[in-house]
Amino acid sequence: MPTLDQVPAGRGVLVKVLRVGVDGTDKEINEGDYGAAPPGYDFLVTGHESFGRVVSVGPAVHEFTPGDYVVATVRRRGSSLYDQIGTYDMTTDADYFERGINLRHGYLTEYYVDDPEYIVRVPAPLKEVGVLLEPMSIAQKGIEQAYEIQRRLKVWRPARAAVVGAGTLGLLVSLALRLRGLEVTTLARTPAPTLNSQLVEALGARYLSTRDVPLLQAAEQHGPFDLIFEATGASSVVFEAMEALGRNGVLVLTGIAGGNRAVEVPGDRILTGFVLGNKVAVGSVNANRVYFERGVQDMAMAVLQYPGWLNKLLTHPVHGLDQFAEMIRLLVEEKSAIKVYVEVAQDN
Ligand code: BGC
Ligand code: ZN
Repeated sequence: MPTLDQVPAGRGVLVKVLRVGVDGTDKEINEGDYGAAPPGYDFLVTGHESFGRVVSVGPAVHEFTPGDYVVATVRRRGSSLYDQIGTYDMTTDADYFERGINLRHGYLTEYYVDDPEYIVRVPAPLKEVGVLLEPMSIAQKGIEQAYEIQRRLKVWRPARAAVVGAGTLGLLVSLALRLRGLEVTTLARTPAPTLNSQLVEALGARYLSTRDVPLLQAAEQHGPFDLIFEATGASSVVFEAMEALGRNGVLVLTGIAGGNRAVEVPGDRILTGFVLGNKVAVGSVNANRVYFERGVQDMAMAVLQYPGWLNKLLTHPVHGLDQFAEMIRLLVEEKSAIKVYVEVAQDN
C-alpha cells in the first residue's frame, strides 16, 4: 500500500485505481520490445491509461478532496529546460520517465500515490468514459501542435482533414476534429461496416478502407487535406501522407513503430511536393496536463454533441487484476477490440 508521505511536503494524493486501459505500447512492452523497469527493479508495473478515485490527500493538498475522480498523467519531470517549465512531454533528455512505460511503475495496481501536479480531475458525469482521457490527451496534443505550427501562415482556415487509423486514437482524433468543425475523412485498412466505421460515420465523418481507396486517391477525391493525422505507426503510411498532404498543410505523426523496417518511397516526388507546397510534418509524443485538461473539455462536449459515442469505444472489459493474461490475449488477438481495459475495482 503506497503512503501519502511518499510525496514530500504534505503533497501526496492517494488514489484507488478503478480502471486501466491498455494499448499498443503495452503490447510492445509485454513482448519485450519497448520500455524499461525502474532502477533497482527487475519488473515493471505496466498501465499508463488510468482512471481512479481520490482516497485521501496530504495536509498541503488543496486541489483535490477524497471522492474526486481523477486521471494521472504519464510522463514525469526530467532535467531539460522543457521539463523545468512543466512541459515534460517536450523533454530533450535522452532518458524520459513514463509511469507504466519507462523507468517508473504504472497504474495496473490497486492504489497509487502521486503529486497533484500530475493528477487531473474528471467531472463525475464523465466517470464511465474517464479511462479514455490519456489517449484523448495524445489526440489533443497532436492537434494543438498542428494549430500552433500553422500560425506561420498568419491565417489558417483548415477545412478538410484526414485521419489515418481508426483505433482508439484515430477515433478520438476524428471526434476532436469534428468538434472543431472540420470535414474529416478517416482511413483504415478494414472495409466497412465495422464498429469503427460506424463510429466514424456517427460523427458525420467519412470512413474509407485503404483497400478500396488508398490515401493518395482519397486526397484527390476528398481533399486537399489541410491536416493529416497519422495514428497507425506504420512507417510506410508516413510517406504516403507526405505526398497526400495539401499545400500549406501539416502532417502530425503520433504512431511509433517498434521494429526496424525499411521502406522504399518516391523520394523525389515527396521532396518536390513538400518544398513547392510549403508543407510541414511534426512528430508528437505524450502529453502534459494542459492536454489532459483540454481532453476533459472535449469529452464533455462529446457527451453533449454525440451522446453515448465515447462509451462505445470501451469494447472489451476485463474483470480484476488477476485477469492479466486475458487482458494481453485480447490486446494481441481480438481484432474487433477498440479499447481493452481492466476493471480493477468497483466504484463505491
Ligand atoms: C503513451 C504516451 C507515451 C508513448 C511513448 C504511448 O502509448 O500513451 O503517453 O509517451 O506511448 O512511450
Ligand atoms: Zn498509450
